[in-house]
Order: sequence, then structure tokens, then C-alpha cells
Amino acid sequence: MQTTITRFALGLFLGLVAAGPLTAPAFAQDPNEPRWSLAIHGGAGTLDPERITPELRVQYEAALQDALDRGTQILKDGGSAVDAVKAAIVPLEDNPLFNAGRGAVFTWEGENELDASIMVGNDRSAGAVTGVKAIKNPILLADKVRTESRHVFLSGAGAEEFAVDKGLETAGPEWFATEHRREALVRMKARQLSAIDVDHKFGTVGAVALDLSGNLAAGTSTGGMTGKRWGRIGDSPMIGAGNYADNRSCAVSATGSGEYFIRVGVAKEICSRLRHRFRKEIDAAQATVPLDTDGNPTYIVHASEFIFDEAIVQEEADAVMAEVKDLGGSGGVILVTPDGYALYSFNTTGMYRGRATSDGVNEVAIFAGE
Ligand code: ASP
Repeated sequence: MQTTITRFALGLFLGLVAAGPLTAPAFAQDPNEPRWSLAIHGGAGTLDPERITPELRVQYEAALQDALDRGTQILKDGGSAVDAVKAAIVPLEDNPLFNAGRGAVFTWEGENELDASIMVGNDRSAGAVTGVKAIKNPILLADKVRTESRHVFLSGAGAEEFAVDKGLETAGPEWFATEHRREALVRMKARQLSAIDVDHKFGTVGAVALDLSGNLAAGTSTGGMTGKRWGRIGDSPMIGAGNYADNRSCAVSATGSGEYFIRVGVAKEICSRLRHRFRKEIDAAQATVPLDTDGNPTYIVHASEFIFDEAIVQEEADAVMAEVKDLGGSGGVILVTPDGYALYSFNTTGMYRGRATSDGVNEVAIFAGE
């Protein structure tokens, strides 16, 4: 079944441009009105309702809702997607419940080493940092790299020197270190467990947003994996693996076993698949436009007229997550599209997550099926 619809077609009363039966997307909003959209995550993993006390659940939900509300406020007020992404991620970095900023996991050597990345979809400007130990909010540093350096990716001491030059807030090791994360490292070493066995979940945080001007942005921040050593870097600060934004397709932030996300190039792969799929559907619609007596099309279909069925977007995200799973990886992604869909795809039993849209969606959830 044809699963696209054009704004043109909607405007002129469903029909004419696209061939075949049209499926109107489930939007409450007028399709011609600008829309905003935000999705956040606080990590995915083997989440078992039995293992989370009601009190802890309330804490997680409150933290997710607070992050969602902060980002939403910016979008509702006409602010930019990148500002909404930062506004949602900073409180998650500051919250010891999540593996980012304060509460980050420990390296093998017993330190907290932070990674973050951010990307904006209109100009595909991007910034990322890895291995920083003393910058309170790595996502803000990643954005400074994006806006105030000629580079995309800075590491370690150099990234910190740049942060200090730019006046970013620093913090000592005691700010980042938490007892439960230290205990996880001790347990891992004592029992020779893998990071996944010891943590059961990935606590990376991320946000993706669409603003009223039609711009997309994505941000991801993490402490990595418990017991990481030898300068290991995961997918989170890698543009294209754990984070990507392109106004022609989507904005994605990932969480999971980074090695697999890097190998699949998850975030960029989802965006590329959507972009090519959009192009094919647009060409197919164009082919149905009647020609004039000179053989020229009577109407040129433009990409901005297309609204895709949510199922198409979900299908592409799920296909890429299936590739991760086939290689042996686990985790999840959040994404938003230029049409305002805010979706998740994960192959774990849960993902701390939330989404809000101008279409009236506002929810936080933890377990699969919620
Ligand atoms: N993806 C992160 C990493 O591999 C871990 C996480 O999502 O929590 O470093």
C-alpha cells in the first residue's frame, strides 16, 4: 500500500499527486502548520520490573519528565532544536541516576571519563569530545566544539584546555564519582564480569529534536562502559555511530554496546536509509503527475510536501537495530523526523525514554511495551 501523502495532496483535498490509495498520517495537527518534536533517552538494557523499586521508578520517571519539559519549553517558545537538546541533556548529566556527567561509570583505573557529541541538521555542523574528566557538562563542551572551533572531535587534555578557554564550568572528580558506580567496578573486577553483566543496562543519555523552523538536532552524552580501559571510546561521541542529524531525513541518538553501534554506523545508517527511501517515494509520486501537451509535468513534487507514514520510519529504524542484534549487540535509538514523528527502537527489555510533540504526545516510559 502507498504509505506517503503529500501536503499538496492534503491541501487540495487528498489525491491528485500521489498514486494509489493514500494513508493519512495520524496527526491531530493541520499538516501545514509548523510542528515541534522531542525525544529523550537515559539508556537501554536488561530492565526487569522486579528489580526496580516503586521509589526508584518514580525517580527515573521524574528525571525523564523534567528533562522532557525543559526541552519542550524551548521548542514551544520557538527556540532552536539544538538548544532544546542541550536543555534536556544537562539535567540528565547532572543526575547521578544516569551514566553521563555526574554518576558516570568508572574506567578500569577508577576514573570517570566522559564522552559527548552534538549535531545540527540544517548545516550538519557537529561537535564531539572524548575522555574528558573535569568538565561538568560534556554536552555543552561538544556544542562549543561545534560552534567555536574549526574541528569536530577533540579528546582528553586538549578538549579540556579548549573548554577552559571557552569558560565552561569545571568540576573535580568528586562531582562525577558515585558510590554505586564505584561498587560496580569493584564487583566487575572481583567476579570478572563484563560491563553488561555488571550494569544490566546502558545509562547513556540523549535527546533529539525538531524545532518550529524545521531544524533537527541530536545530542548524546555518556561515561561509556564500566571498566573500559586502554583509552576505549564507544559510539556515543562518534558522529554517525551514536549520534547524527540531517534535516533531509532524521535526528538520532543511540545507547547500547558501542562497539556494535560503531560497526553498523547506526545513527547515520538510519538517516541514510530514510533519505534514500524519501527520494524514491518522491520520484514515484512525480511519475504519476500528468504531463502537459509538451510532455512536461504539470506539477513538480517537492520533498517538503511529503509526510511519511510513521510505520515507514519505524521500519527503517528497526531494520538497523536488527543489524546490531545480528552482530551480537544490544541497545536502542531515539529519533525524530522533519515531519515531527518521535520514535524509539530498541532490542532490549527496556529503555529509559520520553517523547513530546506539538501533536499532543507527552509521555515517559521504561519497559518495552509501555
Ligand atoms: N553506548 C555507550 C558506549 O558504548 C554505552 C551506553 O550507551 O551506555 O560507550
